[in-house]
Amino acid sequence: MIRHSRPTIAAEDIAAVGTVLETGQLAQGEHVRQFEDAMAAYLGRRGAVATNSGTSALHLALLALGVGPGDEVLMPSYTCVAVTNAVRYVGATPALADIDPHTYNLDAGDARRRLTAATRAVIVPHMFGLPADMDPLTEWGIPVIEDCAQTLGATYRGRRVGGFGTVSICSFYATKLLTTGEGGMLLSDSDTLVRRARDLRDYDDRADATLRYNYKMTDFQAALGVSQLGRLPQFLARREALAARYEAALRGLPVGLPAQPSDRTRIFYRYVVSVWNAPETSARLLARGVECKSPVGRPLHEYLGADGFRHTETAARTALSLPLYPLLSDDESDTVVRALEATLAEQEDGLPSALSTPS
Ligand SMILES: *Cc1c(COP(=O)(O)O)cnc(C)c1O
Repeated sequence: MIRHSRPTIAAEDIAAVGTVLETGQLAQGEHVRQFEDAMAAYLGRRGAVATNSGTSALHLALLALGVGPGDEVLMPSYTCVAVTNAVRYVGATPALADIDPHTYNLDAGDARRRLTAATRAVIVPHMFGLPADMDPLTEWGIPVIEDCAQTLGATYRGRRVGGFGTVSICSFYATKLLTTGEGGMLLSDSDTLVRRARDLRDYDDRADATLRYNYKMTDFQAALGVSQLGRLPQFLARREALAARYEAALRGLPVGLPAQPSDRTRIFYRYVVSVWNAPETSARLLARGVECKSPVGRPLHEYLGADGFRHTETAARTALSLPLYPLLSDDESDTVVRALEATLAEQEDGLPSALSTPS
């Protein structure tokens, strides 16, 4: 079976974690500070606050910005449900916009039309490794939370993503570009926002009764993060080489390939192709030993009982994410291509869609 995602854990990662475990200093400490400094330098931001997940980083970002009940927070309907959850944690209302069908990212024009007097922030995820169209989004004077959970190292009009938002957040979940198992980070150039987020992350030794959280990262996770970050350029290069291999092999097939707008560079977190019926293609690929996924679970408007998100619906029906990670071998990627070729041919032949998938 070729898995859809796998983390890249090397001997040096294990050694880095082991070294911290041996010191007995497990909780947030010096290694967390080092990881924060390293990420802040990587994204070119003044301050960073490590957390125990990307979701908690989003939660702290909204709290630090003072978003609360009565406020609306705009986001695309086609993204991770964690984004709506964080908005609901603070009692604000998630407001959705459609995506640009070519980039799978927030459509700035549609988002503009959905702004209201209550819109207090916009969450902008860079989906699958491609930067969103940042310039129009940062022109409204509304705080932007840049969600870099899926994109690090890509550039938009010559500037690296993660440096555009009022606040930027990252996720270091097991399947992300770099991992700490679970983990996240909030970054900003605003000392005030960083100070607020840092204060709310931890409950201990405080004089006042402000409601605080326990969102801290452990020191051994941070050591893993520092070790992984050191290899991020290698990870991205290997992902790009695999993507080039996919692109060369898939060009002649009846699938849509990832977009490459001329004003930005992308990285390959996911290799997402579009097919006629992604769930069916995915089930057939699984029967052939290749695990592919819909790269976003359910569109958010379905959770919220809304409609009118045409491009999100098309993406949910057609987007198929192929296995792509540094440990995927060239041979495995060739197997993925052959399985996809065979599956598409079978679907064209109109064979019955009832499948026996391996148990
Ligand atoms: C993974 C992800 C998150 C949530 O991160 P967690 O660390 O799993 O909480 C948020 N936004 C996007 C776009 C993601 O891909």
